[in-house]
Amino acid sequence: MTTAPPPSRASVVGPATIDLAGLWEYAPAPESVKPRLRDRYGLYIDGKFMEPSEGGYFKTISPSTEQTITEVAEGTQADVDRAVAAARDALPKWSSLPAIERGKYIFRIARRIQELGRELAVAESMDGGKPIRESRDVDIPLAAQHFFYHAGWADKLQYAFAGRNPKPVGVCGQIIPWNFPLLMAAWKLAPALACGNTCVLKPAETTPLTALLLAEIFDEIELPAGVVNIITGAGATGEALVNHSGVDKIAFTGSTGVGKRIAESAAGTGKKLTLELGGKSPNIIFDDASIDQAVEGIVQGIYFNQGHVCCAGSRVFVQESVRDEVVDKLKRRMNQLRVGDPLDKNTDVGAINSEGQLATINKYLAEGKGGGCDFWQAEGDVPSSGYWCRPCLFDNVQPSEVIAREEIFGPVLAVMTFRTPAEAIERANNTPYGLAAGIWTDKGSKIFEIASKLKAGVVWLNTYNKFDAASPFGGFKESGFGREGGMHGLRAYTQLD
Ligand code: NAD
Ligand code: MN
Repeated sequence: MTTAPPPSRASVVGPATIDLAGLWEYAPAPESVKPRLRDRYGLYIDGKFMEPSEGGYFKTISPSTEQTITEVAEGTQADVDRAVAAARDALPKWSSLPAIERGKYIFRIARRIQELGRELAVAESMDGGKPIRESRDVDIPLAAQHFFYHAGWADKLQYAFAGRNPKPVGVCGQIIPWNFPLLMAAWKLAPALACGNTCVLKPAETTPLTALLLAEIFDEIELPAGVVNIITGAGATGEALVNHSGVDKIAFTGSTGVGKRIAESAAGTGKKLTLELGGKSPNIIFDDASIDQAVEGIVQGIYFNQGHVCCAGSRVFVQESVRDEVVDKLKRRMNQLRVGDPLDKNTDVGAINSEGQLATINKYLAEGKGGGCDFWQAEGDVPSSGYWCRPCLFDNVQPSEVIAREEIFGPVLAVMTFRTPAEAIERANNTPYGLAAGIWTDKGSKIFEIASKLKAGVVWLNTYNKFDAASPFGGFKESGFGREGGMHGLRAYTQLD
């Protein structure tokens, strides 16, 4: 599946005239759009693709076919040193550019992501297994939106932090996970750049492709060398970045276990740190909700992106009086979900991101089946190669069960019940996490009452898994700290007087 080096992309940059109205409307293009890929990708350091210092490459595969897509460099300590040095060198020039000029670069990145939207979406779905409908309509447009949104902040920081003389933090080491690869790159890079910082970004090892395509975009729009450096590799590469003394700020999204280790190693070093970690978010269905909409909301909450979502609504609490109706309708709906080829536009649930993640999910399924709850899985076939898990749920779950407490990060739901609003709140908050929550009811007063009592960074009301660059995202407790998006997200990338 590898191809010759790509033809150079025509430069369509120029002075940016932005048609924001078009942001959500892609012109229909054939599904056969092929991303232009190289046979192998080096590390993007100081504005150039470079060989890794120890010469190692690893394959990135498609989890739906198990075929190799391309090869990617394995960054080691020496490469991290080079990347941090390049970011350090670029810092004085980038941070002292007139803010409006910084904003223009970020606008150009946004626009180019939009223009290459189809190609990026296909690459994202190939590399990570998510349905093309999601990468095309959610991930890539939102990634563009994050750059558009933050481009607008670049010359307005004095208004965000009035009288406090906002300055950049410096060199930012940013480590991202595999569930929303390009979108997480955008969440990290866009605010950092808007605030005048320079970056070293480490994509996840199973999904490095769209970050490398983003590096090509940086090249194309002539982002000054060293402003963003992209170092591919696995955990050890991330660790080298976290521990580097030339890094001023670390932003990490991933597992709670790794997040805790990063917090320990950053302690006492003076590095600024933000962590966006796991979750086990409650989705609460009251008996006065529109049941059909709530069922859609449950599906969107846990089966979107195969459940590889930190804020997934993985614990559903249904009011007892509507329990049977909700569970029956949910099962019927789950049987309609199409599981399969991520590149088919009719697919609802794609491939599990990696063999390792499938093993994790299967371990939890075995654990849950061995407990006292009822397991149910949607019917249907899955392709013979690749990593798959049909949508499933555990019913009659006790809150003490492992599958009700730990993040599974797969299409696995735990269904529980409650009688009173007070009981719903108590059960929903009974978790070490606090990333998100959902409430389904027709009563406005109840919405505000319940929302104010939930310990969660984001509370969705009669909807779920909706994201916007303007609204801050982040957690309480073991879900991490710091906010990304909105005005709050700028704080992590600024020093104030
Ligand atoms: P992970 O935390 O190991 O990986 C996330 C990122 O951190 C990757 O880029 C990885 O290379 C890097 N990394 C790994 N070890 C590191 C270290 N010691 N220092 C610095 N960087 C390091 O997550 P995973 O193993 O890919 O997934 C395991 C579980 O984590 C999942 O089952 C899920 O529960 C959770 N997870 C959460 C999110 C989220 O969005 N919050 C994303 C991915 C995974
Ligand atoms: Mn891959």
